[in-house]
Amino acid sequence: MSWKQSQHLKMEFVKPPDRSNRAAWLEGPSGRCTPQPGVVRRLRLILLGAPGVGKGTQADLLRKHLGACHLSTGDVFRAAAHSICEPSPAMAAALDLMRRGELVPDSTVWEMVRERRQCLHCAGGFILDGFPRTLMQAESLKKLMADENIGLDAVINYELPRAEIVERLSGRRTCEQCKAVYHITRQPSRDQAVCDRCGGQLLQRDDDCPESVKVRLETYERSTAPLIQFYRDLRVLLPVAATGSPEEIFARTAASLEANLHG
Ligand code: AMP
Repeated sequence: MSWKQSQHLKMEFVKPPDRSNRAAWLEGPSGRCTPQPGVVRRLRLILLGAPGVGKGTQADLLRKHLGACHLSTGDVFRAAAHSICEPSPAMAAALDLMRRGELVPDSTVWEMVRERRQCLHCAGGFILDGFPRTLMQAESLKKLMADENIGLDAVINYELPRAEIVERLSGRRTCEQCKAVYHITRQPSRDQAVCDRCGGQLLQRDDDCPESVKVRLETYERSTAPLIQFYRDLRVLLPVAATGSPEEIFARTAASLEANLHG
């Protein structure tokens, strides 16, 4: 089933003009986002799943169809890594951990999210990707959302066998300019080295090298997988198989959301 074939979902998912620039998320409270056009249905979602299951790609598709803001903590760290400003000592330490595939300390991540909490009020809703990643982060987010009177619509848990995760991560390439994500076989650009969207150079992320991938998957099992039960207990968990093409996974995501939101 393609997205276009699922006509019955049209009421929930219209395609607003793609004008989100996430400035307030990527730069922090001083950043000013481009105002979003009218949103038909505001959704607040968390995407869970091991590194490499395609959360970033799905977040991008959801963002385009919902008009919601894609809030990725990894993107904030990568934006800081490419910033011309000198990083704070905490950020420099965080970037070093990130390169090695390890988690950044909860205190650093939480400080970063807390100072961006206005993004949780985004009129278009939000898609949290890569956060929370530990029980402490999940508990802190739950409390913050309760304090700020913000509801959570669903937590989508993308499921994929480990062998396929490793294959996806090792073939992943990211545009250094617009951050579009490709895969050398599953989703290649027309020219392997150049982004179709903006002409930027396609690079492999430092943390997609084999040694970092191993560390990231072990860290996921130890620190993040327990969140599946956490959100199951809160009755917001939606398991979605992450096999197949991005469009197939997206159609499954949409069907699952529709069933949950109407259920
Ligand atoms: P991602 O793009 O979500 O895979 O994140 C890339 C890297 O950023 C991770 O491997 C961590 O080093 C760091 N990172 C991102 N989000 C978090 C988080 N919520 N908690 C700890 N570390 C994080």
